[in-house]
Order: sequence, then C-alpha cells, then structure tokens
Amino acid sequence: MTNRLVLQAITRTFQDGGNERMILDKLDLEVAEGELVAVMGPSGSGKSTFLSIAGALLEPTSGQVLIDGEAIQGKDMQELSELRLQKIGFIFQSANLIPYLKVEEQLILISKLAGTEKARAGQRAKTLLDQMGLSHRRNAYPEKLSGGERQRVAIARAFMNDPAVLFADEPTASLDASRGLDVVRMIAKQVKDQRKSAVMVTHDDRVLPLCDRVLWLENGKLITK
Ligand code: ADP
Ligand code: MG
Repeated sequence: MTNRLVLQAITRTFQDGGNERMILDKLDLEVAEGELVAVMGPSGSGKSTFLSIAGALLEPTSGQVLIDGEAIQGKDMQELSELRLQKIGFIFQSANLIPYLKVEEQLILISKLAGTEKARAGQRAKTLLDQMGLSHRRNAYPEKLSGGERQRVAIARAFMNDPAVLFADEPTASLDASRGLDVVRMIAKQVKDQRKSAVMVTHDDRVLPLCDRVLWLENGKLITK
C-alpha cells in the first residue's frame, strides 16, 4: 500500500512576543492512497498550521513532508508552486471562486496553469462536473449558484489536475447539515475512486462516519482517541 502523504517529525514554532511557542511538536502522519483522514481539535490547536505545512504553503521549523514519495523540503519557490499545482488539491471553508468566470472556465483555468492541452482539460472538466451533479450549471457564474453548488465546484477544481493529495479545511462549515454531508460524500468518493490521500479538518461530527480515520490535534501531535 502506498502512502501518498507522509509527515515525519514536523515541528513548527511561532514567535509570540519574546517567547517561542511550539505549535506542532514532532508530528508524524501517514495517509494511504484511497484514505480520507479527519482531523479535529479545538480552535488554536494548530490544525491550519498543520494543513499549510502538509500542503507546502508554509515551511516547518524542522521535519520532512513527502508527497507521492517526493520530499518537499529543499525545493525553491518555483518548484514548490509547480508541485502544488500538479500534486496537491485544496478545498477551503469558502469556495473562493473567481466571480467573472463561468463554472466550466474555473476548472479549465486550473488545467491551463498546469499546461494541460485545452481539449483534454475540457473533457476532464466535463467528467468532473458530471460526477458532481453540476453539468446543468456548466455555464453559470458563481453568483447564481447555491452554497452547496459552489463548494462542489471547488471540489471539482481541486481534482482537476489529478493531484496525489487533497486537503480540505472545514469544507462544510458554511453549509447546512444535508449539503455538508453531500459535499463530504463527494470528496470521499473521489478519494476512493481515484486513489488519492486526503486530510480534512472538520468540527462537524456528522461527517465523521464518511472518513476512514479520525485524529485529534493535541499538544502539537496527532493522536487517536
Ligand atoms: P487552528 O487552525 O487549529 O485554529 P492555527 O493553526 O490557525 O490553529 O493556529 C495555532 C496557533 O498558532 C494559534 O495560537 C495561532 O495564534 C498561532 N499562529 C498561527 N499562525 C501564526 C503566525 N503566522 N504567527 C504567529 N502565530 C501564529
Ligand atoms: Mg484553522
């Protein structure tokens, strides 16, 4: 079994006045392909810091992150932005769609940035929109979509470049219960079908049955309760 995401002894400190505060303390994690891991923990426990480091958006103070077996420490800015585009998908609490692009164009833009040929990008966008139940919204602008629809576009966008690893930071926080469940069901299905590794930070107990494992961030480490 392949672990598409591996974190080894990740430590992160922040300066707080004159003091150094340890937010992550030799944190280890391995996520297998096809596995969706939920991460819970109180506000301020370091969940977003952890996700940012795992997603190559923030450098750890020490430790190593491997995406699809490839170490990210030591890469320069250009290499990191390439890696994020090719290997990592993000879904945030709000969909962050571009207001002046139609649904389909939001997806094709991401492919274009990664240098994918146009016809292939169009085909992939079509397939993903079908899978998200959004085919009929293909030519809609974000302002015409419901919150749930927007979040489904954000999921399709995150999967557009066929990433190895998917990160979601409270993807259901702005949705009602049933839409939230739908969104996580769709994430889980894509992760299974396409053998991704995925980590989702959530406060939403109702979506936990859809996850393979639940971990808590406590005292800078991920633990099982
Ligand atoms: P969570 O997502 O679990 O609420 P965060 O990872 O956002 O937690 O933050 C964890 C702690 O680290 C908080 O106390 C926060 O104030 C602190 N922190 C986060 N980012 C920074 C930063 N850039 N500089 C200083 N402190 C930070
Ligand atoms: Mg957070």
